[in-house]
Amino acid sequence: MNRSNLTRNKRKIIMITRRSALLGTAAAALAPALAGHAAAPVSGHQAPAFYRFKVGDMEITAISDGYGAFPRIDGFVKNADAKDVAAALGEAYLPTGVVRIPFTTLVVNTAGKLVLLDVGNGDMAAPTSGTWMANFRAAGFTPDMVDMIVISHMHGDHINGLRLKDGTAVFPKAEIKVGAVEAAFWFNADNAAKASAGMMKTNFDNAARVFAPIAKDLSHYAWDKEVAPGITAIGAPGHTPGHTMFAIASGKDNFLAVSDITNIPALFVRHPDWAVLFDTDADVARATRHKVLDMVAAEKMHVGFYHADFPANGYIERNGSGYNLIPAPWVMPV
Ligand SMILES: [Zn+2]
Repeated sequence: MNRSNLTRNKRKIIMITRRSALLGTAAAALAPALAGHAAAPVSGHQAPAFYRFKVGDMEITAISDGYGAFPRIDGFVKNADAKDVAAALGEAYLPTGVVRIPFTTLVVNTAGKLVLLDVGNGDMAAPTSGTWMANFRAAGFTPDMVDMIVISHMHGDHINGLRLKDGTAVFPKAEIKVGAVEAAFWFNADNAAKASAGMMKTNFDNAARVFAPIAKDLSHYAWDKEVAPGITAIGAPGHTPGHTMFAIASGKDNFLAVSDITNIPALFVRHPDWAVLFDTDADVARATRHKVLDMVAAEKMHVGFYHADFPANGYIERNGSGYNLIPAPWVMPV
């Protein structure tokens, strides 16, 4: 088909679409009278957002906690101009005036144990987030079924689901495990005193809010060791000093939950040299990000991201100086 034919066809499609839209409006106005019932209300809700897949014998359930909208793009990436950030968002068909950050946690059913990897925002991030518990329950789980909770790092969007605003513990029966390196950083009084203002102070105060009441009951896990049956903790520092990924293995199958080695893929998988303003040490985070993305691309590994679009798992392939996240095909978990 030549170019003028294409243009003509495109015009025709636009004309037909407009005509049907006009007809549709007229028909919609008549429909209630004809059918004898009121128009269906607009819902404003999605179906419960959980998604299951298998890794060998293990069943994994991704639970969405919606997304947060970071209100400005200026300064969101420490080493890129706002216009370049807006262009990258546009290339991914995302809004260009805000950064929409999705949250997806994983529930791993391993050797008869129910293990949560991070817990979302709890009741701290309405209105487009805060749906975690409803989605968790819709997936057939209740808080008292949880045996163990493993925390990747101590930012609020990963830990606030442990404790509601009013102080209530959400999973009183579960064993809670935090990384030894991460705990040493955030529970250190000198470090907390140094963070006298801004985002770091907020993070120190929030870690204390969530964990201080249960400090003596917390377990600490070490890197390069199993943290739960079939789940190995792997150090991925930079985003925070003790930031951790989780390698999940069963039989010949494996999966890597890379946590926050990137914030949203449209910016930081695509542009791995860019540094999000939340990184504690941008240079260390950048080195970690390159190492991990390079490895999972070479190995064609199935990976999960905390901040990718739901269900937040797929494969990484190289694209020029960066990478693309290719969403995994939809499966039945059999
Ligand atoms: Zn995060």
